[in-house]
Amino acid sequence: MSARSLLNDQKAVGARWLKLSVVLGLLNGLLLIAQAWLLARIIDAVVFKDAGLADVAVWLWLLLPLFLVRAGLARGSEQTAFRAAAEIKRQLRGRVYRHIQKAGPGWMSGQRSGALSEDLTKGVEGIEAYYARFLPAMTLTALIPLAILLVVLPIDWLSGLVMLVTAPLIPLFMILIGTGVERLNQQQWKTLARMGAHFLDVIQGLTTLKLFNASRREAEVIARISDDYRRSTMEVLRVAFLSSAVLEFFATIGIAIIAVFIGFRLYDVGLPIPDFMAPPEISFFTGFFVLLLAPEFYLPLRSLGTHYHGRMEAVAAAERLVAVLDAPVAPSPDEPVVLKPEGPIGVRFDDVRFSYEAGRSALAGASFDIAPGERVALVGPSGAGKTTVASLLLGFLRPDGGSILVDGADLARLDIDAWRRNLAWLPQSPRLFQGTLGDNIRLGAPNAPLDAVRRAAEQAHAAEFIDRLPLGYDTPVGERGVGLSGGQIQRIALARAFLRDARLVLLDEATANLDPASEALVQQALDRLADGRTMLVIAHRLATVRSADRILVLDGGHIVEQGDHATLMQQDGPYRRMARLLEVSAP
Ligand code: ADP
Repeated sequence: MSARSLLNDQKAVGARWLKLSVVLGLLNGLLLIAQAWLLARIIDAVVFKDAGLADVAVWLWLLLPLFLVRAGLARGSEQTAFRAAAEIKRQLRGRVYRHIQKAGPGWMSGQRSGALSEDLTKGVEGIEAYYARFLPAMTLTALIPLAILLVVLPIDWLSGLVMLVTAPLIPLFMILIGTGVERLNQQQWKTLARMGAHFLDVIQGLTTLKLFNASRREAEVIARISDDYRRSTMEVLRVAFLSSAVLEFFATIGIAIIAVFIGFRLYDVGLPIPDFMAPPEISFFTGFFVLLLAPEFYLPLRSLGTHYHGRMEAVAAAERLVAVLDAPVAPSPDEPVVLKPEGPIGVRFDDVRFSYEAGRSALAGASFDIAPGERVALVGPSGAGKTTVASLLLGFLRPDGGSILVDGADLARLDIDAWRRNLAWLPQSPRLFQGTLGDNIRLGAPNAPLDAVRRAAEQAHAAEFIDRLPLGYDTPVGERGVGLSGGQIQRIALARAFLRDARLVLLDEATANLDPASEALVQQALDRLADGRTMLVIAHRLATVRSADRILVLDGGHIVEQGDHATLMQQDGPYRRMARLLEVSAP
């Protein structure tokens, strides 16, 4: 998809409003001609025909509502255009957001979140001017000067001719200048995205930077990037000012020529044009009327020049959005296989291979089985591929080779959203979201009644502390769960899993030590959660591996050993060495 086709696609969303805006603008333009006519009439009458106030009172009274109606039309036209833009932005933001969701964390992890949020906010905003100003202006530029020309040509063809000759120069020069600016604009957009991304990185890593005394150096980098941004902004502005100066110039010349030709004819001075063109006679009224219309003739062309920058900005922004919308999304199967609706799920990895980057495999042919209802611990040194196994099961990544079977069905043949409804995922440090505690527990089951939320919280040993809070389930929590301890956040996350009633629980055990009391509660809740469900734990504690039905030892992307704790301890394999280390480090 190209940036232009994206902009075109989106036009359909606000088409109704855009059309209305153009119609209102055109009406306004037609009334403008009427207004100029009235004004010329009045002045002609007063100056040359000795008319008194009483004689022109009717005209004056007509002028007043005309002003009001025109103001109303101008406002209406602008408002509808912005309304179209708002609708388009909303729809586009939804579209990009949904696509990001589909592309999933596998793709997200390769992106700079600062740049991405810049795209979603500023990028989407960047297209506003295109729809709200440029598109309506573009249509009106074609229509209003044409209407004026149709009025002027019959009454004074000479002025009409001047308009006809000078008008095309304006868009011509605009296009000549515009192509250069387009490149500059894209450049500027990239700098802005880089700046946003860098800011976010720095803010997120502020503690680390402070600790390593690197904040001064970072400040210098930020200063440099900001300066780049300033420079590219100035460059864009320079060209923008230059181009509007050029457009003003042609418009002014055009008006001046018309004025001179009218003036010369009124004073009956010979015109500097060939005799055979025999300039038409002109009355003051006609001359004045044409002169009033002349600036209005050039106005849409000039404003198009201004709004043209809106278009270029939008193209640059759309280019970034297209890059997001082009993120690969796993195709959903035409006829997805449907799993049996309940009971714990069995999993089989059959020679699964995956690599994040060519030549370095994260999983190099991993094969293992997890029986329905089994509780399996996945252990292995850091970098062994444990997280990759979880991400594959969650459908964030797709295997490069081999197959993943769930309940006998190939994961690739399932509808991914339907599959995820069977899962609960408990990451090492679960995130809470802005909202109440109740909302946070309802994350995977938004419509669950309060009773069910309570029951889930009780099972997760979260009810104990929630009930002690003055607002209970209505307690607001911030993004990082301010005011809650690590153990409490873990238990909220567990309550989510209970409420969702998942059939396969994936758990990345927290490595941070909880206090012993919390630890015991979390452990109890986990035992309860494992009951009647299949559970795969990425284990970091000896207690967890001991209580697992089976242990899979992963190393270098292969399963190197499997069995229960007692069996594996009897072998002199990698597990025994690892378990020794865990024993030493256990509190
Ligand atoms: P574990 O969870 O066992 O520590 P991972 O599954 O995270 O291991 O990683 C397995 C291998 O894949 C490692 O070599 C790691 O460097 C690599 N890897 C993990 N995530 C990415 C990523 N997003 N991009 C590139 N390589 C990655």
